[in-house]
Amino acid sequence: MTDCLFCSIAAGAIPADVVLETEEVLAFNDINPAAPTHVLVIPKRHVASAAELAPEDATLLASIFEVASRIGGSIEGGWRLVTNVGPDAGQSVFHLHFHVMGGRPMSWPPG
Ligand code: 5GP
Ligand code: ZN
Repeated sequence: MTDCLFCSIAAGAIPADVVLETEEVLAFNDINPAAPTHVLVIPKRHVASAAELAPEDATLLASIFEVASRIGGSIEGGWRLVTNVGPDAGQSVFHLHFHVMGGRPMSWPPG
């Protein structure tokens, strides 16, 4: 998808502060961090949101969670893994991404 921001980042056409990369997955720092650690984990292939995942994406999803867990594992005190689906949830980029956040106490439920 040429008009997708995160497809452009995955393709290297738009720069990002990459934290971790595998064949299928890219992790990079959020441009507007909401916590001391705030990393976005995305599939390199375009998927619009978690609502678009299909059974054949199971391996991809496992890779995303493995990368997220490697990043979260280095955060002392715990971490949060969040994905927003649709405008009411606050999704602003319509390419699947998981927020790995930590480094400060967080409240629940989120606003
Ligand atoms: P959402 O609101 O869709 O759940 O999360 C989108 C996230 O992408 C936001 O936290 C926002 O700060 C981040 N973001 C938006 N544009 C860019 C960008 O160009 N580069 C990076 N690294 N993050 C971005
Ligand atoms: Zn995309």
